[in-house]
Amino acid sequence: MNSYLIRNVSVLGAAPTDLLIRDGVVAETGAGLAAPDATLVDAEGLVALPGLVDLHTHLREPGREDAETVKTGSRAAALGGYTAVCAMANTSPVADTAGVVEQVWRLGREAGLVDVQPIGAVTVGLAGERLAELGAMADSAARVRIFSDDGHCVADPRLMRRALEYVKAFDGIIAQHAEEPRLTEGAQMHEGEVSTRLGLTGWPAVAEEAIIARDVLLAEHVGSRLHVCHVSTAGSVEVLRHAKARGVRVTAEVTPHHLLLTDARAETYDPVFKVNPPLRTATDIAALRAALVDGVIDIIATDHAPHAVEDKECEWAYARPGMLGLETALSIALDVLGPRWDLIAERMSRTPARIAGLTEHGHDPAPGAPATLTLVDPAARRVIEPAELASRSRNTPYARMTLPGRIVATFLRGEATVLDGKAVK
Ligand SMILES: [Zn+2]
Repeated sequence: MNSYLIRNVSVLGAAPTDLLIRDGVVAETGAGLAAPDATLVDAEGLVALPGLVDLHTHLREPGREDAETVKTGSRAAALGGYTAVCAMANTSPVADTAGVVEQVWRLGREAGLVDVQPIGAVTVGLAGERLAELGAMADSAARVRIFSDDGHCVADPRLMRRALEYVKAFDGIIAQHAEEPRLTEGAQMHEGEVSTRLGLTGWPAVAEEAIIARDVLLAEHVGSRLHVCHVSTAGSVEVLRHAKARGVRVTAEVTPHHLLLTDARAETYDPVFKVNPPLRTATDIAALRAALVDGVIDIIATDHAPHAVEDKECEWAYARPGMLGLETALSIALDVLGPRWDLIAERMSRTPARIAGLTEHGHDPAPGAPATLTLVDPAARRVIEPAELASRSRNTPYARMTLPGRIVATFLRGEATVLDGKAVK
């Protein structure tokens, strides 16, 4: 194994120190460390964070390797400062059996850039009709603990109840894509002033809020764990606040794009801004930001959703929903939260690691901790060029925008996955 001596790094904003990485762990910290055999990393001006953990990534393999593979997605993740990602189940075939989740898990190990933790489907084929082999996926080599039909809502309340009951036995989690399908038929964007003006069918906030309200009550009734994917409305925040005050075992995520972009982007008719749930209003953004700070929303998750050119560069109505996120998430967090490093570590590393049960992740760089961390240059400004992204797809909503912060290096269990801003493999 390689050893690294990281010089003059600020751990979570503290005064600069040195970090010696050896045998996969942070072996030593302090000023003026010496280690002649170690590779020197000059980290003057850089901030060390625990490696980021994404609870919501679409890697598209198996099935749509033209949009992303486990390897290209892993590279994008490492370049974004991530050391672990949870891969959503809406692949082709769907990750609804032990065989498919083990395949994704194995591909992640082969790529070796981040830990890829598969999420299993709740229902067979994401069809919402009968439960998938949740137990077999949990017992597989992939050790699945989170199940989600993401992309689709588990709309049938009886099925949702049974899923929550089933995973309770092993402290599993149902991660819900909250969208009452009868209220969003034909929806193209957020239902509001802009959709009315553009004449596009709207996706009303209540379609999300109604499902979250139902599911927190079901989770409370069953005594099971619920995670709410990509919360996007101010009303959802209030439902979650109420549920948490009652002690319901619910956690929630918000995406970077829902923290920054409004439904006014639809006026461009550029399908890069089409996403599900849709971009909402400035009022929603303000509520989501406040909830992220006060903890009603637990984490930032990317919902990284790569799409091939033909699925995205077409008419708005035909374009697939979704946008890239892994390589820009930390920059958006910095833009939204400012250099509040402890809060960023909490929302993007420690808490997602805890929710997913990824015990090797989410540890602050300190002696004895796994050397699973990332180095950020907070002073850097970069212009996002889609062609320069490591993802196989190009559908970033931040094209040619200037964003703060740059990932300089990432380490997974003591091995560099990114150095000098470049992936090592
Ligand atoms: Zn979703």
